[in-house]
Amino acid sequence: MVRTSARGRAETAEAATPEAVTEAFVQQLGHDPVGVWAAPGRVNLIGEHTDYNDGFVMPFALAEQVVVAAAPREDGRWGVRSLNRRQTVTFGPQDLVPGRVEGWAAYVAGVVWALAEAGHTVQGADLVLTSDVPVGAGLSSSAALECAVLTALVDLSGLEVAPLDRARIARRCENAYVGAPTGLLDQAASTLCEADNALFLDCRSADHRQVPLDLSSVGLELLVLDTKTPHSHVTSEYGDRRRTCDEAAKILGVAALRDVSLDDLDDALSRLPDDVMRRRVRHVVTEDARVLEAVEVADDGRLADLAPLLDASHTSMRDDFEITVPTVDLAVETARAAGAHGARMTGGGFGGCIIALVPVGSADEVGRAVAAAFDEAGYGAPAWFLGVPSAGARRLV
Ligand code: ADP
Ligand code: MG
Repeated sequence: MVRTSARGRAETAEAATPEAVTEAFVQQLGHDPVGVWAAPGRVNLIGEHTDYNDGFVMPFALAEQVVVAAAPREDGRWGVRSLNRRQTVTFGPQDLVPGRVEGWAAYVAGVVWALAEAGHTVQGADLVLTSDVPVGAGLSSSAALECAVLTALVDLSGLEVAPLDRARIARRCENAYVGAPTGLLDQAASTLCEADNALFLDCRSADHRQVPLDLSSVGLELLVLDTKTPHSHVTSEYGDRRRTCDEAAKILGVAALRDVSLDDLDDALSRLPDDVMRRRVRHVVTEDARVLEAVEVADDGRLADLAPLLDASHTSMRDDFEITVPTVDLAVETARAAGAHGARMTGGGFGGCIIALVPVGSADEVGRAVAAAFDEAGYGAPAWFLGVPSAGARRLV
C-alpha cells in the first residue's frame, strides 16, 4: 500500500514508522523493544451521529497511525513516552482508578485499567510511541492511541482477546477512564478495518463486515481535508443532539431512532412536537438509509455512485442536524466546484475534516482550491492528504 502521497502544504507530521520508535526506545531504555505494534486513525465514509442511535456507520482505517515499541518491565509498572509530546509518564497498579492519571497518558493508563476490569492480567511494560494521525481533527487519534497500546499490551501479556472485545475494551477506556462519551465507531474502525475495505458496522448488534472500497478501480481517490477549525461548544452540542434523539425515540415509542424506517418517517415526523426535533430525526433516519445504500453501492462495485450519497449526507448535516460550520461548508462547496464528485463533512461536527471523492491525481488541485478560498475568506490554511483504506491494529515487527 502506497502511503499518503498528496499531503497539503500545512501538513507537517512526519510519518510514524517502526524505525522511529525502535531507535527512540533503544536510546531511552538502553535495550531493544521486543516488538512494534500499530493502530490507525479513521475516517467515517458515511453515517454521522447514527452510532448512539443504534444505527449504521461505514468507516475505514487511514494509513496514518500510532506506532508503539514495547518491552516488558519487571517492577509491575508502566512507562510510556510520546515522541510527539516529548514526555514520559510512569504509573503503577495503584493508578488504575479513573481520574488518577490525567492528560494524554490517561488514554494509556485507561487501557491497562479497562483490560484489568475485563479480567485480564496486564504485564508491566515500557512503551515508546509516535503518531502521524492529526490530533483533534476528528480522525480519531485517541482511538489509534488506545488501540495501538492495547494491541501491544495484549501481545506482551500473552492474552487472548477477540477483536470486537478489544474494541469494546478500548472504548471503555475512553468512556470511563478518560471520560469522553463516544460510541464504538472509532475503536471498532481502528481495530477491525482491513486494507482496501471499509467497515460496515451495526452499532446495535455490533455485527460487522468488510465492504470492498477500491476507489481507484473507478478512477477515484478520496481527499481528506482538515479545516483546522477549532471545535468550540462541541461537547455541549453533542450532548444536546443526543438528548433530542433520545427524547424523540421516547415520544415515538421505539428503543432508538434506528427503529424508524424510511417508510415510517413521514408518520413519525407528524407525531413530533417541534420543528427542530423533526429535523434531527429526519437526519438520523435518512443517514441510516444512506449508509445502507452506500454498502449496497460498494458491494456492487458502483463506487462512483457514492458521490450523491456524500452530498446528501452533507446537506442533511448542514440543514437538519445543524452540525456544520462556515469553514466546513465552504470547504465542501469549493471542493465540488474544483471537480470533486461528492463531498461531506466527516466526524462529529463543528469543524474537523471534510472528505471529497475526486478523480485520481486531482486531490492536490482540489486541496489547493480550498486553501485559496480559505485565504480569501480570511480563514487559516487547511491541510490535506489522501485517505487510503488501510489495515487495522496489528503487530508490525
Ligand atoms: P481526535 O481523536 O479526534 O484526534 P480527541 O480529543 O478524541 O481527538 O483525542 C486527542 C487526544 O488524544 C490528545 O489531546 C491527546 O491527549 C491524545 N493523543 C492522541 N495522539 C497522541 C500522541 N501521539 N501522543 C500523546 N497523546 C496523544
Ligand atoms: Mg477521539
